[in-house]
Amino acid sequence: MSSSTPRATNLTPEELEELRARARREAGPFLAPDVLRRARVHNEEWAAEILGHPYGGPHAVTWPELYLLHLAVQAEPTPPPPPLATAARLERETRAAQERRAVAQEAAYREKEWRELADALRRAGVRVEVRHNYTSHRHLEFYTQGADHVYLLDALRVGRLWRDAGVVLCHTPSNARNLACLEPATDGRLPSCRTCLGHLRSAARRLAA
Ligand SMILES: [Zn+2]
Repeated sequence: MSSSTPRATNLTPEELEELRARARREAGPFLAPDVLRRARVHNEEWAAEILGHPYGGPHAVTWPELYLLHLAVQAEPTPPPPPLATAARLERETRAAQERRAVAQEAAYREKEWRELADALRRAGVRVEVRHNYTSHRHLEFYTQGADHVYLLDALRVGRLWRDAGVVLCHTPSNARNLACLEPATDGRLPSCRTCLGHLRSAARRLAA
């Protein structure tokens, strides 16, 4: 172990040797009930360094080892944080923070895109809003069940995409019944229907051209 590697104990190798020698001298052949009662370790990494080999739990140590751990707890009441467990926890926290950032970035991107696309249509006189579909019970290829759709407040005529006012962009004669009941989304949610978003993107692109 290099000197820069964080250790689970601040006891020096000399101090550890001394404790081990003392444990060999003092432990004796019989268990001491008061030591057993108070037996504990700070953490597994610390115990492994004290023992000089992996610590398998209180039932996996011999009586002299238990006594050594007992002496070591008294010699070092407050050891440093266990390096491996601490590093693992930091890594988990870092990963969680990265994921939260990615989710926030994705949300910000979707929000910005929606605003820009809706603005592009509004400049062409077509107002859109997000409406949630509560009624679909079936899943068809051309709409997403329970999705948030892009609803037209004005008729849209761009390229081959013709839609009346009062329908969603993914509206077709065959899915009209499934999209009959749409409620305005009042909680600032963004459209999630891929078909609606696809039509919205291509309409905005054509209108901007
Ligand atoms: Zn849709």
